Amino acid sequence: MKIRIEDIPPSGLSLDIEESGAALKEFAGGKLDLDFSTPVKAHLEVSKRGQSVFVSGDIKAGIKVECSRCLNEFEYPYASDFASYYELGREPEREKELKPEDMDVNFIAGDTLDTSEVLLGQIALELPMQPLCRADCKGLCPKCGADLNLGECGCGGEDKTDPRLAKLKEFKP
Ligand SMILES: [Zn+2]
Ligand SMILES: [Zn+2]
Repeated sequence: MKIRIEDIPPSGLSLDIEESGAALKEFAGGKLDLDFSTPVKAHLEVSKRGQSVFVSGDIKAGIKVECSRCLNEFEYPYASDFASYYELGREPEREKELKPEDMDVNFIAGDTLDTSEVLLGQIALELPMQPLCRADCKGLCPKCGADLNLGECGCGGEDKTDPRLAKLKEFKP
């Protein structure tokens, strides 16, 4: 959804939006390497102060990701509270007064703010680099590649004795 900056009233806007994964992918122009398993839902508070547009709120979505240990695909329940600044039509200035650390400054080239940009920018920032299907995921056997969540593979590759410890044991009196 597009918000014309000049249409933001002094009291601000409060929005509940829902955007489909397909619409977000289209907005990203095919550059988005993410699969959404649910529409992206968000509550946004949008306000304007001079040349700055301030957006805060929360975003929720189900995103299909691959577990970094067992490589199985699962739905990651994305949820984030955020606050961002958007600056109107200006290049970044180096000598700028400090802003609260948890805010990111973005720049709006035209006269409209697209909520797809807000959602994508936020999701890209906070997606885990190494997602786990569950905290105690056992991963794959390093020898035969079997999914150890399904049980022991029996290939004999999971010998847990550290060879250095085995050496130490030999020195025991
Ligand atoms: Zn896993
Ligand atoms: Zn194995």
